[in-house]
Amino acid sequence: MLYFWIYWLIVFVLGLSVGSFINSFVLRYNTGEKIANERSRCFKCGHALGWRELIPIFSFILLKGRCKSCQSVISWQYPAVEILTGLVFLGFYIEWVNKYSSGGYGALVYLLLFASILIAISLYDLMHKIIPDSFSYFLAAVALLGNFIFFNINLYELLLSLIPAGFLFFLWLFSRGKWMGLGDAKLMVGGGIFLGVRTSLAALMIGFWIGALFGIFLLLTNPKTTIKSEIPFGPFLALGIVIAFLFSDYLDLLTIFYA
Ligand SMILES: [Zn+2]
Repeated sequence: MLYFWIYWLIVFVLGLSVGSFINSFVLRYNTGEKIANERSRCFKCGHALGWRELIPIFSFILLKGRCKSCQSVISWQYPAVEILTGLVFLGFYIEWVNKYSSGGYGALVYLLLFASILIAISLYDLMHKIIPDSFSYFLAAVALLGNFIFFNINLYELLLSLIPAGFLFFLWLFSRGKWMGLGDAKLMVGGGIFLGVRTSLAALMIGFWIGALFGIFLLLTNPKTTIKSEIPFGPFLALGIVIAFLFSDYLDLLTIFYA
């Protein structure tokens, strides 16, 4: 117990590395480039990155955010996704220690895999304003399998957990895709199964609130933004899922959001 912070450090560093993988995976997805077996390259000059340039965070700091070969600026997206993944891994690990360690390390792998797919979905949605079906289906399949193996979910709970996705589906249907993308409903299938109905309804509300506040913030600060500007909802939904999972013990405090 004395050395719990060593475990925290290991999990955080693991998260940094997975975040680095998520960056390159999402950037290469559907571009025809091979995901594995291919050295990462500078997008401007094609310079193949050496191992010193592939260490999460440290390389970015060491290179002062520029390509060693052509000096072009490396997007802050890389270290941001790495740090975010590290923090989410840490949060999920602490939840596992407190509540789900009875499921063993398998349950931990399940939680971290779910978090990784969620981050990949958010990143892809931010970049392309669409969520690939394959990502959402994978997320739902992982949530379903993990829940059956580690948490003995029953069919009744499973059906209930589809309510938030159903709600988003009807929003999509009634607004003819104007309020909501169908991709958001598909994302929520996995989110609902992962969290269960009560927590995932809270996740939905948290996502709506943060998304709305962000939209208002954009309207006020950026004159180019209009009500019609498409802000992808997927990342807010994912954020809601992560927050609801990490703070599920305090959901009663969050009921003000239901008002
Ligand atoms: Zn370069």
